[in-house]
Amino acid sequence: MELAQVSTNAYACLQLEGGLGASNSGFINLGGGLVVDSFWDLPRTRELIKHYSGISSDTPRRLINTHHNGDHTWGNQLFAEAGTEVIGHRLCAEYFATENPSGMQMLTKAEGLPPAMEGLAKALRRFDFEGIELTPPTTLIDEDTEIDLGSTTAKLLYVGPAHTAGDIVVHLEDEGVIFTGDVLFNQCTPVGWEGTFDNWILALERLAELEPEIVVPGHGPVGTTEDLLELKEYLEYVLAEARSHYDRGHTTLEAAQAIELGRWSEWEEPERLAFQVNRAYREFDGIQWDERPDTSKIFSEVAQLRDEFTKSA
Ligand SMILES: [Zn+2]
Repeated sequence: MELAQVSTNAYACLQLEGGLGASNSGFINLGGGLVVDSFWDLPRTRELIKHYSGISSDTPRRLINTHHNGDHTWGNQLFAEAGTEVIGHRLCAEYFATENPSGMQMLTKAEGLPPAMEGLAKALRRFDFEGIELTPPTTLIDEDTEIDLGSTTAKLLYVGPAHTAGDIVVHLEDEGVIFTGDVLFNQCTPVGWEGTFDNWILALERLAELEPEIVVPGHGPVGTTEDLLELKEYLEYVLAEARSHYDRGHTTLEAAQAIELGRWSEWEEPERLAFQVNRAYREFDGIQWDERPDTSKIFSEVAQLRDEFTKSA
């Protein structure tokens, strides 16, 4: 975990070790302190708080959740207990009902799992999900909102459902910085849950049009507008490829095995391609964006692709 100053008043706390759940957080040292996302477990969130307290010793006034996924929110309680206001989109708060820390903790301790689940469990074992009390945002927004930071404002833009139902990004326009949450995976293969290709692509276009100089992604290193457009291109490519396999009657796994990733094969965890192929097929089948995907099927395809990519590398 490392702290980086990205502009005069904005910082990023980056977990660049890679893999599932290695998420990033942000901090704006204005208006009493505004944190963008906590981390997946309490030990990591404590370390995060330590980094931010080196910038400002006051308890941060606000915490924004960019979306509901645990790697961005399960440390919320450490902020809320200290009196920080937790802010998020209404759908972000609602989707907390789908989160299950004790189930995750059990999975990390389980033995004799089938290979697909073992892959997931292995990725989770570096986290400690003990003691987590889900703490959803209590200040809810439904649309774009401005937050008064005294000398300037931060804009919260609702761009979901893209990566999840309740995606918001934080734009500090004065300093050319956007904290994207998981609307941007930078140099690593995106995972997606509730949302549509169209909305995700539109979200990336909207953010690119704001021409930020600095883009702090939900995962991966700090980037620029170019990185937003790169993910947009990836999504468009995978969608078109998936369509052609779908039309030829191929399964999602066959499609994912056949799609040539080119330069995107260099991205971390290219096997997560299975997430986007499955999302594409659900859309082609007319399944609504908010129907929960079959995650065990997706993780099993991810595991199979991982083996194949590793062998061919
Ligand atoms: Zn994430």
